[in-house]
Amino acid sequence: MIELPEEIEILKQTVRRFVEDEVEPLAYLIDEQERVPDQLVKKARDLGLFGLTIPEQYGGSGMGPLGLAVLREELGRTNMGFGSFFLLNNGIGSKGILYQGSDEQKEKYLPKLASGEMIACFALTEPDAGSDAGAIKTTAERRGDYYVINGTKQFITNGPVADVATVIVVTDKKLGAHGGISAVLVEKGARGFIQGKEEKKMGWHGSATGSLIFEDCTVPVGNLLGKPGQGFAVAMKTLAFGRLGVAATALGAAQRAFEMACDYASQRVAFGKPIAKQQFIQGMIADMATEIWAARLMVYTLAKDMEADLERNTEASMAKVFATEVAWRAADANVQIHGGMGYIREHPAERLYRDVRLLRIVEGTSEIQRIVISRKYLSNPL
Ligand SMILES: Cc1cc2nc3c(=O)[nH]c(=O)nc-3n(C[C@H](O)[C@H](O)[C@H](O)COP(=O)(O)OP(=O)(O)OC[C@H]3O[C@@H](n4cnc5c(N)ncnc54)[C@H](O)[C@@H]3O)c2cc1C
Repeated sequence: MIELPEEIEILKQTVRRFVEDEVEPLAYLIDEQERVPDQLVKKARDLGLFGLTIPEQYGGSGMGPLGLAVLREELGRTNMGFGSFFLLNNGIGSKGILYQGSDEQKEKYLPKLASGEMIACFALTEPDAGSDAGAIKTTAERRGDYYVINGTKQFITNGPVADVATVIVVTDKKLGAHGGISAVLVEKGARGFIQGKEEKKMGWHGSATGSLIFEDCTVPVGNLLGKPGQGFAVAMKTLAFGRLGVAATALGAAQRAFEMACDYASQRVAFGKPIAKQQFIQGMIADMATEIWAARLMVYTLAKDMEADLERNTEASMAKVFATEVAWRAADANVQIHGGMGYIREHPAERLYRDVRLLRIVEGTSEIQRIVISRKYLSNPL
């Protein structure tokens, strides 16, 4: 067991109850309708979930990486699309403002993100630049007191519904990723800013993902986060925090798959006894339990280290790649243990299997995490 500070333990229990009592009963509906009911969004708002990691001075709860890990672990146990609204406000949608924003930008946006009055998104990926983030082509050209933005962002979580976007843009083509990339805030309704339609996805139903199109989109120079050229660093720091969140989501999903598998294996009778008595099934359960234990140690060690402000970028990649692959194997074993039942749309094992698939892709694919990890340890062995 990992010991958590009292306030974090209380948060964990509160979110667990909310998920079990309010979200899980609607999880199938959200999946089928691809929409989170308004009353559930309101309940999340009332619980303060939009501003959990936003500092108290801006109306949030001021929790750090441990609070985020607990929140995301618990949300990983249910329909993953549900949390997108407020997870972006707590994570990659607000961190750029927090890390690099001016006092004025913080005052303007953070209280509204904390209360849920505004929804945030973070836009880095483009049609020709995903893993290779330094290859982005969306430009922001300074013209007097304005930046004029042109380009397209793709697969942006909350893109179709966001009120404010942190957009990573090229401000100096010659410098590129080495000082030529910046982060700029664009609000819904800005001239030349088009929020594309929602994509149909394999999983994470209820979470709106879409393109952002900039056609001579004009924003005041005051919308720049930090100084010109600091955008790549903002994006990388923001994504390191995001990786902890994805790893914690994976941990929650793996744990839920494990619990479902144990319950079903104990009840389902084949050849005159519960399938849990079969050694093949016992082997799957043992592997799930072992891997989940290891993933939990990694995620919470990482969260505690980040809470203590230690630099843990490579470890964040390690936790992300490991925990998301543990969740993938656990979700698969869970479907296998459920047999045909695990393939039926109404069964949560089927949804969990689709939802976990995204975790190995977003916020840096497994391959990219392995590149980051090997780059460090090849020159600096453990
Ligand atoms: C539902 C969803 C939500 C998303 N939300 C956001 C968001 O909010 N904001 C945002 O900016 N982006 C978002 N993304 C984009 C996501 O981060 C990218 O899809 C991801 O980074 C991969 O980029 P790509 O799709 O362009 O794949 P590519 O970069 O084209 O990669 C394709 C494959 O090649 C592999 N590959 C690439 N380079 C290498 C290499 N050097 N060595 C080995 N293998 C390599 C990759 O690992 C992958 O397997 C989202 C995507 C989805 C599907």
